[in-house]
Amino acid sequence: MSYDKNNIFAKILREEIPCKKVYENEYVLSFYDINPQKKIHVLVIPKGEYVDLEDFTNKASDKEIVEFNKAITYIVKMLKISNQEGGYRVLSNAGKDAGQEVPHLHYHIFGGEKIGRMVF
Ligand code: 5GP
Repeated sequence: MSYDKNNIFAKILREEIPCKKVYENEYVLSFYDINPQKKIHVLVIPKGEYVDLEDFTNKASDKEIVEFNKAITYIVKMLKISNQEGGYRVLSNAGKDAGQEVPHLHYHIFGGEKIGRMVF
């Protein structure tokens, strides 16, 4: 699947539409989900143009991949939901069976309360 530069997260990255920012660095942006499913529900996206995890793994540099994973660990500490502080769940949808709505790679991070069943 080719990358659609007009997807909503691309617009957020270009600051054409606003977001409630959690964290940003050279490689990633993290912001609160507009329709939270749990007490804490944030999204983490790479700044590069990747549709999903496969696209990211196949095309991103090792540095981008490392920084994306490190950002998740940093963000859960920032939000005080690390494993030591309550815990969290990371989830990423890819493709139609998973119901991926936005075709720019994103990880959901849920926390702040009991998260419940593995699959909603
Ligand atoms: P997906 O179903 O693709 O895994 O998740 C897309 C997520 O993006 C959904 O949880 C949805 O609420 C969120 N979302 C869609 N549009 C916007 C937006 O404009 N701003 C923010 N902050 N989140 C959005």
